[in-house]
Amino acid sequence: MVKAEGVHKSYGAAHILRGIDLEVRSGEVFCLVGPSGSGKSTFLRCINHLERIDGGRLSVDGQLVGYRQKGDKLYELKDSEVAAQRRDIGMVFQRFNLFPHMTALANVMEAPVQVKGESKAVARERAERLLDRVGLGDKMGNYPSQLSGGQQQRVAIARALAMEPKLMLFDEPTSALDPELVGDVLDVMRDLAESGMTMIVVTHEMGFAREVGDSLVFMDGGVVVESGHPRDVLTNPQHDRTKAFLSKVL
Ligand code: ATP
Ligand code: MG
Repeated sequence: MVKAEGVHKSYGAAHILRGIDLEVRSGEVFCLVGPSGSGKSTFLRCINHLERIDGGRLSVDGQLVGYRQKGDKLYELKDSEVAAQRRDIGMVFQRFNLFPHMTALANVMEAPVQVKGESKAVARERAERLLDRVGLGDKMGNYPSQLSGGQQQRVAIARALAMEPKLMLFDEPTSALDPELVGDVLDVMRDLAESGMTMIVVTHEMGFAREVGDSLVFMDGGVVVESGHPRDVLTNPQHDRTKAFLSKVL
């Protein structure tokens, strides 16, 4: 579903991604862990067209991200083609970024109506179903300020799902939450994983990674240091950098 081959990204003189190689299979929960500044968010942002890579190849579902290849030449995609690629990818951030002036229901209906031109009736039906699914069937009329952080994050997940993405990216979705609110969000993510969604999850929740993850990659300094099944990497890390990191977060 996602393939990175020698992906590089710099911000000015700062060389952040230094040759990322990884592959995320369809339907798997792929956990990305690593110290602060290692490039995890940058990598997710490259997948979702929020940043452009400087080198290597990055593809989602067999399509190059942002480019089309003809022969051995790459051509940049038009804005409309980029928009079409982005539509298939849902992203959930550490901060929930809901529209503050809209109810939970309106937040979830917004993109299908505005971006896909869907009818309000169809969008509403799906939004109600999704809010039910994330356990907020009784909060649809609440504004973000009338919801807890965990509830807001579940609305954000429902909002991303409303576009019926084939890939979901999560960037530390629980790290801004009070500890007692983390479980409900992880439960929603677990449910989503069980439904077969392909998910890349940047997280410090090693319990979640161990129970739900199919693969785990440890990144440091803009490269993949170690990867494997979460149980193996977490219980038997091979590299000193992985061991040092895990000793701090486990
Ligand atoms: P964290 O765990 O703290 O979220 P991360 O692994 O997600 O860290 P990134 O956010 O990808 O790390 O940042 C990697 C490096 O890139 C950092 O040193 C950061 O300062 C730098 N960086 C990120 N975004 C930009 C930007 N827009 N311009 C310049 N530098 C940036
Ligand atoms: Mg980050």
